[in-house]
Amino acid sequence: MNVLILGAGGREHAFAHSINNSPLLTQLYVAPGNAGTAKIAENINLSVTDFPSIKKFCIESKIEMVVVGPEAPLVEGIYDFFKSDKELHHVNVIGPSREAAHLEGSKEYAKQFMVKHGIPTAAYESFTASTLKQGMEFIDRLTPPYVLKADGLAGGKGVLIIQDREEAKQALEDMLVSGKFGAASNKVVIEEYLDGIEMSVFVMTDGNSYKILPTAKDYKRIGEGDTGLNTGGMGAVSPVPFADDELMQKIEDNIVKPTVDGLKTDDLEYKGFIFIGLMIVNKNPYVIEYNVRMGDPETEVVLPRIKSDLLEHLHAFAKAELSKQHLEIDPRSATTVMCVSGGYPEAYEKGKEISGLEKVEGSIVFHAGTTLADEGKVVTSGGRVLAITSFADDFKEALKKSYHNASKLHYDRIYYRKDIGFDL
Ligand code: AMP
Repeated sequence: MNVLILGAGGREHAFAHSINNSPLLTQLYVAPGNAGTAKIAENINLSVTDFPSIKKFCIESKIEMVVVGPEAPLVEGIYDFFKSDKELHHVNVIGPSREAAHLEGSKEYAKQFMVKHGIPTAAYESFTASTLKQGMEFIDRLTPPYVLKADGLAGGKGVLIIQDREEAKQALEDMLVSGKFGAASNKVVIEEYLDGIEMSVFVMTDGNSYKILPTAKDYKRIGEGDTGLNTGGMGAVSPVPFADDELMQKIEDNIVKPTVDGLKTDDLEYKGFIFIGLMIVNKNPYVIEYNVRMGDPETEVVLPRIKSDLLEHLHAFAKAELSKQHLEIDPRSATTVMCVSGGYPEAYEKGKEISGLEKVEGSIVFHAGTTLADEGKVVTSGGRVLAITSFADDFKEALKKSYHNASKLHYDRIYYRKDIGFDL
């Protein structure tokens, strides 16, 4: 089977790494890919949202499966684009339909879906510029902290958590009237604050049945002790040690099952991954967000723990035969530590030569923001640069390996958090 992976980050390198092990694979392509994917697949210089060029490439290279990494092509409807084109009918696109991708593309849509299907989530109301006054009154009725969410995609920055009531009202006005997050905040969801512990579950579905993948917890802040600005993610641990059987059963019964059943009831076509952000309050799970793809860097700890053939599982989506598949999970813990560019998530420089990659032993290095320069040199090309994934019987030992190998890597102003897993 010829497979095309869309994307250029650590998540896509992790997909390429797992799929590359499959006996079902003939040729693997990644568009646009990075210096890491170039070692195990052929990188193709295509934009992930340039559907006509992707179509041309798929026909020329006899692609049978497209695995979509990031959300943008999904929200723009790549699944429907392939489905509605006779020449592309046979291509198995791993992802949701455009309508189902609204679960990530619109916070209000996701909340309505959860309420309709009885899935536990924070109480909420949504407002537009014409209902600003009612929004202010709603804030008056809530107790702090106030949670304000831009309805649309805002690059992970559209959620504000504010202690002070007047500040919250000002922020609501900035979002609705002054376009603080552009069109994404034309509508704002205000919701009840949930005080609990966060974790993520990942689900694979062929639209009919589902498989729950290993749990993970990521670390979003740039600074140690979870301080400073939000980033794309500085590290992750899988499994989440506090997610015992009792909690996982509640997550399956109250959240995963009603979500997949809700997709069916609402005729939302979905053959892909669901990443569910949860808040655990008094041992009960609540959904804080849906994402319609895998997370990064969680993918770098979740996929390496799947020992069975990922490509075979994905292939079963096409015929809605996922229920016949057996998922084998590595019982060990996996951790990943993300090395970033100095200055990230604010301004940073690119093009710094990376050395020490050949000295890494006992960990997998997933490339996130790297590219190949002259004479085969690997240079930095993004904020998040390399994710160092390791396994051990417990997550603390796995982290020691990730840190030991991270210390062998060098580029100008390399930075990584030294306290991943500190709160577990
Ligand atoms: P979201 O993009 O919806 O996942 O929100 C970003 C972050 O805001 C989450 O990872 C949580 O840490 C926090 N958050 C979102 N909604 C709530 C809520 N209702 N209560 C408490 N924290 C929240």
